[in-house]
Amino acid sequence: MSRTYGSLVLEREAVSSSRDASPGGRNERSRLLHRGRRHSYEPVNQTQASVYSPDAIYVKVDLFLHELKKRFDRLEQFKKETLTHFDAQLERGYQALREVRDACSPYHSGELLWGVARHRAKIFVETLEAGYNDVIPTRETLDEKAHASMKLMESYLSELEARAHSRRKDLLDSGWKRVDDSINATLDLFEEGYDKAKKAKDLLAESISHALKQAAESRLITYEDLPVPWRVNPHITRGYRFTESKIECITSMFKPSNETVNIWSHAIGLIIVLAIAFHYYPSSDAFASFSKMDMLIAGCFFAAACKCLICSTMWHTMNGIADKCLMERFACVDYTGISFLVAASILTTEWTAFYSVLGLAGTILPWRESFNRADMQWARVAFYVSLALTGFAPVLQLNITRGIEWTFYFYAPITKSVCVYFVGAIIYASHVPEKWWPGLFDYAGASHNIWHLAVLGGILFHYAAMMELYRGAFKRASECGCSIG
Ligand SMILES: [Zn+2]
Repeated sequence: MSRTYGSLVLEREAVSSSRDASPGGRNERSRLLHRGRRHSYEPVNQTQASVYSPDAIYVKVDLFLHELKKRFDRLEQFKKETLTHFDAQLERGYQALREVRDACSPYHSGELLWGVARHRAKIFVETLEAGYNDVIPTRETLDEKAHASMKLMESYLSELEARAHSRRKDLLDSGWKRVDDSINATLDLFEEGYDKAKKAKDLLAESISHALKQAAESRLITYEDLPVPWRVNPHITRGYRFTESKIECITSMFKPSNETVNIWSHAIGLIIVLAIAFHYYPSSDAFASFSKMDMLIAGCFFAAACKCLICSTMWHTMNGIADKCLMERFACVDYTGISFLVAASILTTEWTAFYSVLGLAGTILPWRESFNRADMQWARVAFYVSLALTGFAPVLQLNITRGIEWTFYFYAPITKSVCVYFVGAIIYASHVPEKWWPGLFDYAGASHNIWHLAVLGGILFHYAAMMELYRGAFKRASECGCSIG
């Protein structure tokens, strides 16, 4: 039986218990249970501060949140079934736990993503800071806040469980058997969660040194040898790099590993995109008709494409680094690159669609030139607002004014890039084909390799589509030939 649970029960509930209550745990608890704001000048437990690295704390918090969900679900069900009511202070703790569970639970079901533990710890702290700032201890850094908040939440949770436990006793005495299973299961989960959290801090450091040792022996290691935060895809069984040296990460680009295809597909892709942006695009026939704004929009697309490819290459080169913080930082860089690219792709399409929409009024060419004039400020505001707010407005507008067929014709060029992105994303998410034949696609042909080619294909198709859209828009605008009133 757990110390924490025991000390609480003895202290608050006077339920007879033979559990071993540690004095340290009791002090910590009783302080927390007074629910006073603890101040930063209170010394943080020194032994803990030196043993816990921020990463170990995030992992610990992550495990705790996982346990919290299970335990709180039970508690909630118990509360509902037995119509139990808590006093005002405990009720507030109950609400805080519920908010934490709800805020953090969308991340429970997802696969393990880089930085997810830290991200969840952040949400956890923010949730409490938003509604319960008066009870959570003041701390400087996120890991300290997360650690202190976790302890507070655990004290609430076990206090509530203790109440539920004594209530169960009352109910059992009055012959209500049904509750027994539910609360016993709750207690089991609590034990399990406590033990896991206790072990988590050593686990990470241990598994990192194990992986480093393996990598020193055989250069490439297996999925099983990887520490948990580095594991992404269990169907890629071999070929992982793991090193403490950044230089070694970079030189590993030139040696075969399961990242070789990922690294080089986007490194070469970057060279292709740069060649287009600085050579093929300026020498294209449509380029002569481009206004400054057109160039800016096209420039955004090229910049986004390059950023995406650079970030991706960096991430795949560096993800074998045995430093969790650094590895997660590169992963974040990778995600922002992709979302930026998608946003820029939408922007170019909308821009050219607006040409056609606005071109109907016969104002497109003069409008283009006077777009930056001082008296056009409302037109500019209207344009940017509609661009930002109405992703589908051009589709709708074209549909109404020109008919479905015409709209289809207008958007036909971008269907290729959209399809490629879309199919790529589905393959990326589904881990096909390596899911069906684990180990067969460790070095090439895995879903992530296909996704990389899809991103590159999407960029190239989108470039082609963008040029076609511009050509069409210029042609229609010049055919119209009217001028602004
Ligand atoms: Zn990638």
